[in-house]
Amino acid sequence: GSRYRLIIVANRLPVSATRGPDGSWSLRDSVSGLVAGLRGAEKNYDVTWVGWPGMHVTSDADKSTLGEALNGRRYHPVYLDENLVELYYNGYCNSVLWQLFHYVTLPLETRLDGTQTMKHQWNAYMTANVKFAEEVLRVYREGDIVWCHDYHLMLLPSLLKERVPGMKLGWFLHTPFPSSEIYRTLPQREAVLRGVLSADLVGFHTYDYARHFVSACTRILGLEGTPEGVEDRGSATRVAAFPIGIDPEHFTSALNKPEVRKQIDVLKTRFAGKKVMLGVDRLDPIKGIPQKLLAFEKFLLERPQWRDQVLLVQIAVPTRTHVAEYQKLRSLVHEIVGRINGRFGTIGSVPIHHLDREMGIDELCALYAVTDVALITSLRDGMNLVSYEFVAAQIDQKGVLVLSEFAGAAQSLGAGAILVNPWNIGEMALAIEDALSMPEKEKTERHRNNMNHIKTHTSAAWADNFISELNDTHVEAELRR
Ligand code: UDP
Repeated sequence: GSRYRLIIVANRLPVSATRGPDGSWSLRDSVSGLVAGLRGAEKNYDVTWVGWPGMHVTSDADKSTLGEALNGRRYHPVYLDENLVELYYNGYCNSVLWQLFHYVTLPLETRLDGTQTMKHQWNAYMTANVKFAEEVLRVYREGDIVWCHDYHLMLLPSLLKERVPGMKLGWFLHTPFPSSEIYRTLPQREAVLRGVLSADLVGFHTYDYARHFVSACTRILGLEGTPEGVEDRGSATRVAAFPIGIDPEHFTSALNKPEVRKQIDVLKTRFAGKKVMLGVDRLDPIKGIPQKLLAFEKFLLERPQWRDQVLLVQIAVPTRTHVAEYQKLRSLVHEIVGRINGRFGTIGSVPIHHLDREMGIDELCALYAVTDVALITSLRDGMNLVSYEFVAAQIDQKGVLVLSEFAGAAQSLGAGAILVNPWNIGEMALAIEDALSMPEKEKTERHRNNMNHIKTHTSAAWADNFISELNDTHVEAELRR
């Protein structure tokens, strides 16, 4: 039979483009949880992508040559100029929505010159969403499934449905959706909710996020919440949880690569005689890196017998490095690491190996494989895929996962992980000790629980579930119309 066409709309296209000396473009695939999950959909659907290519292309000639290179891969670029990216992407998306969705209170406006006020950012957000809508409508054919992603594109469902009321349309959020008590501080709270509600299906990582969204709609818009979603005078939006996963085979097969095996041996020799703890995070305030370090410090301070038995490897991937808040976090983290290493280090070794850089997936896999205890201490985190990847790579080690209850993953790996409140430093220090001294039998049992979950909740299954639910919902919606 004929396959459905699926149009995936996300802020970024899943490629980076670079221009060669002859002016031709070369494209490199980028990887992320979202991309890996959606690649799974390519088995059953003809997938087309719409998104920003992630670079500034100004001349019409460049736009047309890059457009051709991208179209060949079924990528359709939305070109955004530099000023728009600043206000839409760095502004409204990352300084307003991202913050609020992770329970960070909105900043008071400090600049009175009017160039960076939230109102300008909001205008840019609307403009950018219109540009995405125009490109989707250029690509769209009747019967296509359109799947919009994330907080960047919350107005897109309404912009699309205005033009094509019968469009089969879903939207998925990759971050938390906060309690309505937090959400309702957003000055544009009604417009943003209304933008999303035009979709047939609205998806979140966890049941809690879905519930928060429904509460926001009932409290702010006065709509009716039902077990199925939200109703507005006869028109319904289905709201449900679809927890994303990973492709576990990607990690188990990486462990068999000769380079990775070699790296594992190197690390095992380097860390011989010590228990290895690992943190892998973007250097973002939501990841709770200072809290994690303070817990490790307390652990070393109060349990001197462990001092030369254990080390912590912390990978802190630089992100948003031009933002003052993130620069301050980096200094704070460096200060705490320095203090702990100064206090508990010896001439031969230091307890914390801190790296400010991004690792390739093979290197990361080798690190996961030699780790005894992974420490994930997010203050808020949509899902947290590092926790899943760590589990997938624990073939021999059966390492223990210490996981924040504020990561979406806590809802799925709760039976296998040791859950902690990252704000309770004493509790975390205790969890570190429990994890390091856990009997083999319990480690094996917990690992089996975790592994079962990630094998049965893969990224490919996530995409399939969302799309089939969207199909069902749309059939019902058309019957109502
Ligand atoms: N990652 C990576 N190299 C690094 C650190 C992280 O490739 O040095 C990848 C990691 O494998 C994971 C992703 O970045 O797939 C992080 O996803 P997660 O959901 O844990 O957090 P996010 O950064 O999306 O908030």
